Amino acid sequence: MPQSRTEARRTIGSYWEASVPQVKLDRQLIGNALFDVAIIGAGFAGLSAALRLAKAGVSVCVLEAEHVGYGASGRNGGFCCLGGTKLDERRLIKKFGLEEARRFVAYQVAGVNLVAQRLDSWGVDADRHSNGEIYLAHRRKDFAGFQAEAAFLKENFGIKARVLSKTDLDAEGYGGPTFHGGLQVPYGFALNPMAYVQALADQVRRAGGKIFGKSPVTGMTRDNDRWQLETEHGFIRARKVVLAGNGYAREDAPKWLHGRTLPVMSSILVTRPLSEGELAAQGWTSDTMAADTRNLLHYFRLLPDRRFLFGTRGGIFENAQSLAAMYKRARSDFDEMFPAWAGIEAEHSWYGHVCLARNLTPFVGEVPGLGGVYAAMGWHGSGIAMASISGEKVAGLILGKLQPEDLPVALRRPFARFPLPSLRKLYLQGAYWWYGWQDR
Ligand SMILES: Cc1cc2nc3c(=O)[nH]c(=O)nc-3n(C[C@H](O)[C@H](O)[C@H](O)COP(=O)(O)OP(=O)(O)OC[C@H]3O[C@@H](n4cnc5c(N)ncnc54)[C@H](O)[C@@H]3O)c2cc1C
Repeated sequence: MPQSRTEARRTIGSYWEASVPQVKLDRQLIGNALFDVAIIGAGFAGLSAALRLAKAGVSVCVLEAEHVGYGASGRNGGFCCLGGTKLDERRLIKKFGLEEARRFVAYQVAGVNLVAQRLDSWGVDADRHSNGEIYLAHRRKDFAGFQAEAAFLKENFGIKARVLSKTDLDAEGYGGPTFHGGLQVPYGFALNPMAYVQALADQVRRAGGKIFGKSPVTGMTRDNDRWQLETEHGFIRARKVVLAGNGYAREDAPKWLHGRTLPVMSSILVTRPLSEGELAAQGWTSDTMAADTRNLLHYFRLLPDRRFLFGTRGGIFENAQSLAAMYKRARSDFDEMFPAWAGIEAEHSWYGHVCLARNLTPFVGEVPGLGGVYAAMGWHGSGIAMASISGEKVAGLILGKLQPEDLPVALRRPFARFPLPSLRKLYLQGAYWWYGWQDR
C-alpha cells in the first residue's frame, strides 16, 4: 500500500467552513497503488460515485487536489433544487422532445429526493429548511408571464407551481421593492452543503472507499488494461476512471478535457444574524429559498440562524482587483434589493467555480475514445441534486447495472469543444453584456 501524509488545509473563507465542527483532512498519496476505479474530485459527484462503488465491493479511491468540499460542493448556496442545464423546459422540449424532457425533469426530481433520503438515512440534519423554491419577478412583464408558465409546467411536467401577487409576497414575508410577484415550485429544500459533503465523505470512508487529499492528478496515460494517474508523490493504476473535477478540472488530466468546459465564477455573501426588528424592517421573514428572474440571477435565503445569504454571478478574472470589483457589485445589488439592510455587515464573502458546457447540458457517461474513462460533470450551477444522482448513475454504468440508454438523452451528449478555447473568457464577457442588457 502507498504511504500517505496529511498537509495543512487551504481555507475558502466561507460561512460553511465556519459552521461545521471540523473539516476532516485525508492523507496525501505517497507511493503507488492499484485500484479497480479511481475517481478525480471529492465533491458531490465523485463521492457519490465512490459510495455506490465501495458499497458494491469495488476497490475505489478518490484523488482530491485539496480536501473534501474544497470545490463548489463546499462553497455553494445550499439550494438543493431542480436544474443542471441552461436550457429551460421549453428549449428542452424543442431539443429532445416532450418525453425526453419529462425524463430529464423526473431525473432532477429524483436527485432532490436522493439527497433528502441520504440525509434522513444517515441521521444528518445539515440545517435543512425551505419547502420548495420561489422565483421572484424582477420586472412587471416577468410577473405577467407567470400564470402561463404555471399552466405550462402543470400541463407538460405535472409541476404544480403557485403564482403569488405582490400583495401575497408582502403577506408571506418576501418583502423587497424590486419584486413584482412570485412563482413557487414545490420541489427542493435548502441545506448546509459543507455538512452534506462531509457526511457523504464519511459514508465513503465507512464503506471502504479511500480518499486521498492534497493529491492533484497532473496527467493520465494508458498502460495496457489500466490507466495511470500521476500525482506529485506517486501514481494510481486503475481499470476505470471517473472525471468529477467539474469547474475545478485541470484541462490536461486527461487532455480530452481541454477546451470542453467553461468554469464560471459565482459569489456569495452572508450577513451577520439579523434581529427580528431588522427582518421586519425589510419585510423578509420567509425561510423559502428564492431567486430572481434575471438571466444573471441572484439567489438568496434566510438561514436558520437568521443570517441572510445572497449569491450572484462572479467576475471574469481572479486577480485581486477583479475580485474586489466582484464583491463590490454583489454588495451593491444586495443593497438595492434589500435596502433596509444596506448598512448590515457581511461577515463572510467567498466565491467558487461552476461548470458550463457548450451543449448547455451535463455529460454523464463514458468518454468517447478513452475506453474505461467516464465523466460526470457540467451541472451549470445547480449541482447539489444533479451531481449527487449522476455520481450514483455513473457508478451504475461502471458496475454494468445501468446502460447508457437508461439515462435521459440530455445527459448523454459528450462535451463539445469550444471553438478557439483560449477565447472562452471573452465569450463569457460577451454573454454577461448580452444577458445584462436582456435583463433590463
Ligand atoms: C458560489 C456557488 C454557489 C452555488 N450554489 C448552488 C446552489 O445553491 N445549488 C446547487 O444545486 N448548486 C449550486 N452551485 C453548484 C454546485 O455547487 C456544483 O454544481 C456542485 O457542487 C459540483 O459538484 P462536483 O462534485 O461536480 O464538483 P466540485 O464540488 O467542484 O468538486 C470537484 C473537485 O475536484 C477536484 N479536482 C479537480 N481537478 C482535479 C485533479 N486534476 N486532481 C484532483 N482533484 C481535482 C477539485 O479540487 C474539487 O474539490 C453553486 C456553485 C458555486 C460556486
